[in-house]
Amino acid sequence: MNRKILVANWKMNPQRESEAIKLTKAIDAKNVVICPPFPFFKSVKSVIKKASLGAQDAFWEERGAYTGEVSPLMLKKLGVDYVIIGHSERRRWLHETDEMINKKVKVALKVGLKAILCVGEPLSVRKKGLQAAKNFVKNQLREDLKNIYNLKPKTYNLIVAYEPIWAIGTGKPDNPKETAEMSRFIKEYLKPKTYNLKPKVLYGGSVTSLNIGRILEYNEIQGALVGGASLKVNEFKKIIKIASK
Ligand code: PEP
Repeated sequence: MNRKILVANWKMNPQRESEAIKLTKAIDAKNVVICPPFPFFKSVKSVIKKASLGAQDAFWEERGAYTGEVSPLMLKKLGVDYVIIGHSERRRWLHETDEMINKKVKVALKVGLKAILCVGEPLSVRKKGLQAAKNFVKNQLREDLKNIYNLKPKTYNLIVAYEPIWAIGTGKPDNPKETAEMSRFIKEYLKPKTYNLKPKVLYGGSVTSLNIGRILEYNEIQGALVGGASLKVNEFKKIIKIASK
């Protein structure tokens, strides 16, 4: 198994800066991307030795009158390497549309961030079968990456995280064999003749130390986006060990 990427999506956690620093020191590894809440960026960055820093979102303009938003250019200048875009929680709670996500991906790539685009179907779709899920994901990719090939981003700058919505935070991960099939499908859809991109595909949804091995044994899956388990030191350390074999 090649060393796989692990994106630690802390969401709106932990509550204290001291906890964020402690957690960072404990999970600081080369293949880890730590995505803390914005207020902890500077302190997390100051203690990182091996990991990369990621943001959980960034706005679609580099500067301007956009109250409350965070500029991708500012993030880049701060030493941020990665940005998660289009997470299903933002699509749901902040009503982010594919059009907004498309603009965010484009500007993130333009300023030199590695964009981790999240896609994935709801349960109602998956209940109809994997083919229905593939169609749903294909539509998201088509809209979210519209005109992206005009930018000619370096191929490694786009990462797709396949995160079936029903698997996020539910304790019910996808079947790794089906995840691998979806990953192949995503790569096939994005293959050079289509978008001139060869993105890595990650899996996200109730990843734990007990299931990560079976997920990452597939070559088509280059890593995982981990929510809940990335906040538990011992659990995440086990995940890092398995992903680093
Ligand atoms: C996520 O944050 O995208 C996620 C997959 O969370 P969890 O690992 O808790 O399911």
